[in-house]
Amino acid sequence: MKKIEEYVRSIPDFPEEGIIFRDITSVLQDADGLHLAIDSMQALLDGVDFDVVVGAESRGFVFGTPIAYNLHKPFVLVRKKGKLPCETISRSYDLEYGTAEIEMHKDSIKPGQRVVLVDDLIATGGTIEAAAKLVEELGGKVVKIIFLMELAGLKGRERLKDYDVASVIRYD
Ligand code: 5GP
Repeated sequence: MKKIEEYVRSIPDFPEEGIIFRDITSVLQDADGLHLAIDSMQALLDGVDFDVVVGAESRGFVFGTPIAYNLHKPFVLVRKKGKLPCETISRSYDLEYGTAEIEMHKDSIKPGQRVVLVDDLIATGGTIEAAAKLVEELGGKVVKIIFLMELAGLKGRERLKDYDVASVIRYD
């Protein structure tokens, strides 16, 4: 059986020169790769007591929803600004390349709910930190943050030092 890292395709100089982009389309378009990715991420939640899965647009949706479905938990979307139709709260943050603003529906998390955050990859940690702050602004407690991949050299974990962070694949 192939290992999960063998399904990830590494693309040099995308989207900018000097960046090696870790592509997950090659994971998803293989049935075994898809299973392995979801199962490996879900295993990071063994023993974790939580109420809601929150995923960051857009690759966090791909991995977060099947995990929520498998564990019979609700799934909440963190979206880029302007996409959600009801009342939202928002937050701006710096990306590895550029800046962005994300939003959540105000009614998506109830005060006191225990939240698992999901994204495909952590680089600087800016995206998921902003998502965590939104969850906290709504009164949720972030009990675990999981990723398929971690770019350890960018020190995202230091930025997330107040949280319990886990990833399946680590790139040094
Ligand atoms: P951060 O906010 O941690 O600096 O960047 C992580 C965000 O950018 C994630 O939402 C992730 O989807 C995206 N991202 C940055 N670099 C890569 C990459 O090499 N591969 C993939 N799949 N996503 C990336």
